Formats: sequence, structure tokens, C-alpha cells
Amino acid sequence: MRSNPSSIVNSDSSLLVLSSGKKPSAHLESLYSAGVQRLEDLLWLLPLRTLPMPKVRPFREAREGELFLGCGKVIHREVKPAYGRRTKGRFLLHNGYVIVKELNGEATLPLRFFNLYPQQKKQIEDWDQVWFLGTMQEWRAQNQIVNPKVHPLLDEAWAQTLGEWLIEYPTVNKVPGSYTAKLFAGLPENFWSDIQSDYGTDELNEMNLARAFRVLHARLSPQEATTEVRKAATERLAYEEFFIDQLKITTRRRFIKKKAGPIIKNDLEALSAFLKLLPFQLTNDQQKSIEQILADMQTGHPMMRMLQGDVGCGKTVVAMLVALMTIHQGKQVALMCPTEALAIQHAKTLADLFGSLPFLKPALLLGSMKKKAKDALSLAMISGETNFVIGTHSLFQESVKFKDLGLAIIDEQHKFGVEQRLQLTAKGAGTHCLIMSATPIPRTLSLAQYGDLDFTTIKAMPAGRKGIKTRLVAKANYPKYIDFIIQRLKMGDQGYFVFPAIEESETMDLQNVTESFKKYQATFPGIKLAMPHGKMKAEEKEATVQAFTEGRIQVLIATSVIEVGINVPNAAFMCVYHPERFGLSSLHQLRGRVGRGDKPGFCFLVLDQELGPEAMSRLEVMEKTIDGFEIAEADLQNRGEGDLFGVDQSGVVTRRRVADFHKHSHILEKVYRDVQQLMREQPGKIDPILLKLARDQKILDTI
Ligand code: ADP
Ligand code: MG
Repeated sequence: MRSNPSSIVNSDSSLLVLSSGKKPSAHLESLYSAGVQRLEDLLWLLPLRTLPMPKVRPFREAREGELFLGCGKVIHREVKPAYGRRTKGRFLLHNGYVIVKELNGEATLPLRFFNLYPQQKKQIEDWDQVWFLGTMQEWRAQNQIVNPKVHPLLDEAWAQTLGEWLIEYPTVNKVPGSYTAKLFAGLPENFWSDIQSDYGTDELNEMNLARAFRVLHARLSPQEATTEVRKAATERLAYEEFFIDQLKITTRRRFIKKKAGPIIKNDLEALSAFLKLLPFQLTNDQQKSIEQILADMQTGHPMMRMLQGDVGCGKTVVAMLVALMTIHQGKQVALMCPTEALAIQHAKTLADLFGSLPFLKPALLLGSMKKKAKDALSLAMISGETNFVIGTHSLFQESVKFKDLGLAIIDEQHKFGVEQRLQLTAKGAGTHCLIMSATPIPRTLSLAQYGDLDFTTIKAMPAGRKGIKTRLVAKANYPKYIDFIIQRLKMGDQGYFVFPAIEESETMDLQNVTESFKKYQATFPGIKLAMPHGKMKAEEKEATVQAFTEGRIQVLIATSVIEVGINVPNAAFMCVYHPERFGLSSLHQLRGRVGRGDKPGFCFLVLDQELGPEAMSRLEVMEKTIDGFEIAEADLQNRGEGDLFGVDQSGVVTRRRVADFHKHSHILEKVYRDVQQLMREQPGKIDPILLKLARDQKILDTI
């Protein structure tokens, strides 16, 4: 956003200019540290609510759900302690009940106040004739207003000072909305008129950005800013956000494709030697995927490709074959996994299948490893002595260096962000990047977040799979379900019990799982159960998973550590407790852990309370379909993209604020078309913007 030089304030300038030379107030600094750093960021701090301010009206005109402004005389008041509500044990809070009577009429109206501080309680006692402003609510067939704003009537001009709107800004980083409202009120008129999009989007929209911000910050009269106008303004801001996202994606794509990348040839002889080591034939989809990926790796430019396909379709094998090809041609490969358990499993699969290849020198890099071991590995990677590193997030660290990293593979991309992807590929010159994901990506999301990637999809499952049955288990069916599991255990089947991770408290998780462990040990006497968990050392976890893989343990009890990747063909049942606390895509992933071998799989979603109709119909999707795409769409509709992709923008207010993939998908489509058209028809206009974005995102020097 730009403003002309004559502006008093420029939207690009720091928020701290609002302190006009003095030391910035604590509130201003709190906003700043919450990410509201420039005046432009402040603009994106939108009100929670804006309501047209009503005129003073007689009580009988009050309507439920509407903002009402009235005045009257207090004829009754009651103040009682609000029991059980103390603020940090310091004051006792009070509830108040006040009845006001109209000044020139007989009508009365009750006002209710909850959790009053001592100071507020004293004020109530002083009230005689008052103004009051609040939303009318019906309660037991009577109108009342809860927690209205109240002002003594003595001050006759008060109602005039209210302005045309009631505006409520959100509390940000403990800064009250009223403070933000004052900041806005103090902005000079030309601040608003000078707002302009940096990206030339005003020409592409009916409403310009300046007007959209004015509408949403309630700077126009209620007559002008009707509901439709306000909706259009919100959509205008969504457009801007999507547009910036699209430009960033386009930039990445364009500049990555200009870089030089290592050429990895599709050496058919080598490939057939690798294939001989597999105990099975590749499916057609797997073969095609390998061809597609290798074709991309010999263009001389870096590959940025997503390999997607449902859990168990055989992506890992494909990635490993491509990795072997890369290593065989003298380059190094890094495979990054979201959990240690998965890294360990992949390392084992690699050793089992391809351990006999003389040129392969693999190693594991885990966060939990001792410094000495890490240092040794580090040297081996720099010298090239190790040529295939499998690890977790620790691979991102700056200290991790390679001799010649040709290919970075990222398993289950949605747990990692774009920045991390770039960080990893930056470890080599033009490093190819292959991302594996078992979460099918709905079209709108792929436009919005993965527009810079090429896609390879594996659709078919390896032959011989017996399929999975999914059932919701209500409390009444619990004994039957337990009987069934006991039967399967007697037949030698293995399986999982999974509990949701409880946020932010590893100890609570542990407790949860520990208790269940005891309970189930009692329910299934003679059966070997084990419980890998976050507090275990990597070796311990490895040993547990290993014992399960070899069948020495029959049941794994866990929080979602096994969500991604563990692969035990003999596992036949997956029982998820509190399934309502998981996203559908996570449930789908979990379910994909069973029915992988030649036995049919069973997935039980075990409820321990009655759920509302909405939660039930959400879970019923799992019974109805095993199509990952359908499930991803349903998840997107239910919970928004945040859960699907684990975006953790919590607390940061300057990221996407308005645009919603679901609600605004039509706008995203328009943005996509507009950007494509601009690139075709007006390169002179868009190229400088892309170049600037590439510099801002450090794409030019990191890849
Ligand atoms: P994904 O990574 O897509 O979830 P994996 O690569 O882990 O799937 O494969 C799941 C299981 O199927 C593994 O045990 C693997 O060895 C096996 N598998 C892979 N491809 C085939 C195939 N073409 N035929 C039979 N089994 C296969
Ligand atoms: Mg996998």
C-alpha cells in the first residue's frame, strides 16, 4: 500500500508513528509485538462487530436481537455477589439487576449485569436517570438487556457523541478493542483516501481497496454501508489476500524453474536391478509415477513435485527407487519425516529392501541423538561418505550440510510449511524436491497453497488388498465390540488403540494413555500390549515398534504418534477413541494403517458419550466412504483448512484474516484466472511485482 508524500501518515510506515514522537504506549508496543507493525497491518485489524447506532426510541419499539438506545429513571436495583466467580481471589464480583422506567411513559425495562468489578458495582448505586445502549434479548418471554453501556442522563449531549456506528474491535495481545477504536478514530482523513493496493488489484475489482477498508472500519454512513456493500467489501479484502498468495506462488514457480538443477537420468538398467530386489511387482501407477518423476529430474531445472495417493498405495517405494537412482548417479538424498517413529520405519524399510546395494550408505538423523553421534554423521554428510540421510525436523537445522544434495524428499507435507521446504532444498544447488502426501488436496486448496507444485497421483492400490470396514461404536454396543476384538486377538490379529493427544500437555497425554493401558491390560488378559509415547527415548520407541512389527506385541496403545507411516501388514484393527476430536483426514490416515496385508481391516470409532447430530453426521462420512478426496472435501467444509494442514498461525494477526477457502472459493477462482491472464497479457506490469516478491521472499538467493 502506498500513500502520497503529502500524507501525514503513510500506510507503509511503522505503527509507532502514531505515538507522534513520544515514547510509544504499552498498548502500541503490545500491538507491535503481536505483528501489527505497520499502519497497513493496523488496517487489517478488522472490527468484530459493527452495528448502526440507533436513535433514542420509546421502550415499546425495542425488538429482540436489535441494538437499542433508550433513556429512563432507575426505579429498582439489586446487587448480589456472583458466587464462585473471583478474579484471582482478589475481589468478589457482583451481578446486578436494574429496572428503568421511561421518562414520559409507564413502560419499564430490566437491565442485567454480570460479573461487575467493585468500581462498577459502586456506579450502579449512584445511577438515577440514565442513557443505556445494548442488544435487546428475550428471556422468559420478557425483553431485557444484558451488560448494556450506561451513562448518566445529566450529560445531555452523550447520545450525540456516540457516532453512527457501534464498533467493537477484538482484543489483541491484551490490548482492548476500545484502544484500537481510539487509534482508528485518530487517523486523519487523508490516511483513508490514500490507501492503494501495491498490486494493482483496484483495476480488477469493482470496489477499490480504500473503499473496502472504509466500509469495514465503519467510516461510511449506515445508509451507504448496507449489508450488501459490507459483504462486497469483505470479498474485496479476500480478493487482495488471495491475490498476494497467488503472486507468491507464481513467483516461486517461475524462479525455481529458472534455476539450474542436477540432471538425473532414467538409467533403465540400474532401475531394473533395483526392481529385482522388491518382493512384488510395481503397480502401473507406481511405474508411471517413477517415469514422470525421473523425466522431471532430467530437465536441468529443479523439480518441485507432489506425489499424492491414499495411505498404503505405495508412495514410499516409489520415492526410494527415485532416491536410489539419484544416489547411483553420485548425488545425496535426504528424506524428511514428521515423526521419529516414521523416520526409523523408513530406514528399516530401506535396509530390508535395498540394504544389499553396495553403493547405498544410509544414516538416520534424529533430534534425540547424542551430540557426538550427530557430529560424526555431520562429517559423513559433508564428506559424502553418507549418501542417504533419513531424519526429522532436525534436517532443517542450519548446521546440517551436505556435499552434494541432489534430492530432498518430504513425507507427509502437510505437517511442514512452504518455508521449511525451501529451507531444505536450499542445502544444495538446485536440489530436486519430492513431496509425498496421503492427504488428497481439494482443488481450492491446491490452487491456494500448492500452485507452485507439479502433481503425480497414484490412484490404484496394490492388488490383493482386502479392504477396510468402518463402524461407529455407540456405548450400547461396547461389549459386543470388545468381544469382537478378543476374537480377533485369539486369531492372532494385531491392532491399535488410539487416543487423541491432549493439547499442550504431554503429562496429561501420558496419564490418559497410561490409564487406558491399565484398563486394557485387564480387559485382555494374556495379550501383549505396549504403549509407545512422547516421553520415551528414541531407542525405546524403536524397540517397541520393532516388537510390534515382529508380532511379539499384539496391541499398540498410543496417542496419535502412529498417525503417520507405521506399516505393519498384519495389523487388522484400528480402534480410535474420542474420534470426534480428530479431523476426518487424520481418521482416514489412521484407518489406512490397517487392511494393508492380505487380511481385511476393521476400523472402530469408539464413542463414549452421545454426540450432537452435526458431530455424528461428520463421523458417519467415515462409514460411508474410503475415498480420501471425498473425506478431504468434507473435512474442509467442516473445519476449515487450518486443521487439514496444521497451519499454526495462532496469535499472529497479520496473516490471512478475511479470506476463507470455503466461503470465498469463487473469489479464489477469480484471482487464479486474473493472475493467469495478467501474466499472459500484461507481463510488463506483473513482472516487476514478481521480481520484488522473489527478493522479499529471498527466493533468488535461497534456491
Ligand atoms: P504409502 O507410503 O503410500 O502409504 P507404502 O509405500 O508404505 O505406502 O506401501 C504400503 C505397503 O504396501 C508396504 O508394505 C509396501 O511394501 C507395500 N507395497 C508397495 N507397493 C506394492 C506393490 N506394488 N505390490 C504389493 N505391495 C506393495
Ligand atoms: Mg507413507
